[in-house]
Amino acid sequence: MQGLVKIASDKVFYRFDPETPPAASVKPRSLLEVQCLDALGNQITSESQSVEGIDWNRVNPATGPIYIEGAEKGDALAVRILGIETEERGIVVTVPNEGALPHLAKEARTRVCRVLGDFVEFMGFRLKARKMIGVIGVASPERPPTGVPGRHGGNLDTRLITTGATVYLPVMFDGALLGIGDLHAVMGDGEVCVAACEVPGRVIAEVDVIKGLAPSWPIVETEDACYLLVSLEGLEKAVQTAVEEAVKILSRALNLNWYDAYMLASLSVDLELSQLVDPRKTVRVRVPKTLVPTERLLRAASL
Ligand code: CA
Repeated sequence: MQGLVKIASDKVFYRFDPETPPAASVKPRSLLEVQCLDALGNQITSESQSVEGIDWNRVNPATGPIYIEGAEKGDALAVRILGIETEERGIVVTVPNEGALPHLAKEARTRVCRVLGDFVEFMGFRLKARKMIGVIGVASPERPPTGVPGRHGGNLDTRLITTGATVYLPVMFDGALLGIGDLHAVMGDGEVCVAACEVPGRVIAEVDVIKGLAPSWPIVETEDACYLLVSLEGLEKAVQTAVEEAVKILSRALNLNWYDAYMLASLSVDLELSQLVDPRKTVRVRVPKTLVPTERLLRAASL
């Protein structure tokens, strides 16, 4: 275990572009403290402001990129999330013609939330906080904007990316060039209005490199399961691809023919929705560890 490396939120970028100069270079097994602006670049601080007054070039900042020594194309980058701390003020917004109900959401509105210990207060309603990371990804040849999710990770908006989880991402360039941002104090599956409780804060994480096991899609490991996160433009296409990948993983990991793996998937795998409001929709498929242990799953999911 190496010492704690701090990466401040003045080091942000807006595309997962391999040409972006690294903000820091660290060894595998390093502990990181990554400070993050909120998803709107901390531009909205009161309910009298709305997204109509902000600079959209400063939306979805990711802190980094962080170069991990020894990470090469074809490896998996493992990011173990050890802690997420947020500031006390968060915001939630509506954006005209966005979200799950774009035809009904015509106005830009803002609500300020208070994050008080384990709770988030919205208009006097107390919600259990579920602090999570919205954007986590590595450089990709597509050079995707940080607001777009994909094989490289990015704007996954998946509430399982939280303390205790490990995220596995496919390394596509030397050093991986990890970026983290877009913290949420709480969010429901779907992120229906287009925003979560968007909040600045910091993440403590440990990074490691697993040689030769780049997964086909990002994987989140929790205490009892691994989830494959598939992000594509159409929800139906994302669902089909997630199921196809899950069947492939069961077939490879358990040495089953395709039909047996398909039937076993039907009995054991849960299909869930992460978000349906970003340029690509993210679905996740849950494979219990009792059926496929993590290491075997990583091997089966690798390209
Ligand atoms: Ca987001």
